[in-house]
Amino acid sequence: MLIVLKEKNNQELIAQVQDLLHSKFGCPSHIIGENRRILAVTGDTSVVDVDLLKSMEGIKSVDRVDRPYPLASRGTKNRTLIHVSDTCVIGDPKSVVVMAGPCSIDSEGDLDEAAAMAKEKGVNILRGGAYKPRTGPYSFQGTGYEGLKLLQKAGEKYGMKTISEIMKAEDLPKFEDTVDMLQIGARNMQNYELLKAVSKSKKPVLLKRGLAATLEEWLLAAEYLLKGGNLNVMLCERGIRTFEQEVRFTLCLGSVPALREMTHLPIIIDPSHAMGKTRWVKDAALGGVAVGADGLIIEIHPRPKDSACDAAQLLDPEHWTDCMDGIRAVSKALGKTVV
Ligand code: PEP
Ligand code: MN
Repeated sequence: MLIVLKEKNNQELIAQVQDLLHSKFGCPSHIIGENRRILAVTGDTSVVDVDLLKSMEGIKSVDRVDRPYPLASRGTKNRTLIHVSDTCVIGDPKSVVVMAGPCSIDSEGDLDEAAAMAKEKGVNILRGGAYKPRTGPYSFQGTGYEGLKLLQKAGEKYGMKTISEIMKAEDLPKFEDTVDMLQIGARNMQNYELLKAVSKSKKPVLLKRGLAATLEEWLLAAEYLLKGGNLNVMLCERGIRTFEQEVRFTLCLGSVPALREMTHLPIIIDPSHAMGKTRWVKDAALGGVAVGADGLIIEIHPRPKDSACDAAQLLDPEHWTDCMDGIRAVSKALGKTVV
């Protein structure tokens, strides 16, 4: 960490800052350069309160140099690979992994049909929400543990791995028994107690970007999972809230190349929640593949109008076929295989 002072050789300030760094954060520091204006801080600087330093009279700037998320940072490794099966590896630069299924698990019959739609297109991971985070308390809240059991049954029937959103730590044992992967939704990205609980699970975790989270805040959330011992973490860009009203969220495709430089974690795009309209999902999905995402998570349904949740954005069989044809074509152009 580098601290630049406003004035040259201000002995009193240098002593004050060095004392604070040592006594409060346990970090040694050294004045460097002829002008005696720059303090180089060593040791574990992740504990240093940068805002406190910046607020001090006489300090011009504070530059962390090292990122505050050492485990998620690209510096520690190049790519995390999540082995779903022998042929399906999330994070493999030669693959695009598609996860698909209904928004919510409403009934056994509809889930079975959605799973069949996914399987028919070669999808290996079945999604489905059992505990639903709804904006209003009067909206359908999901089928809970019964839904998880139906998801497990469909996964077994069609030979697919399963993923579902967990909203509270107490539910972890139910998820451990039924699903293969855990999803932490956008609204819970900064639920630190949930992150700590899920970090103790061995199951891969898909961590969605919070509605208003910066890339750094998102990676710090991922750091909680890694720090607790769960190394199979993937990031999912699902759009952020901006002033734009025409699309449901603003899909930040630029986060893919940016994250690629910042982290080794796989990056997934969710075109469904970003766009909010069935007819727009394919274009966003293709954009995600083109910009280098490792995978996609897409909502599909045999009859979208029957769905209890997100009916406006679900892909019916026709849109789904068209979307998968496009995903395969763009992936092929990039020398990648869809798995
Ligand atoms: C979902 O995938 O079902 C969901 C609720 O998404 P998000 O957390 O991105 O809104
Ligand atoms: Mn949904």
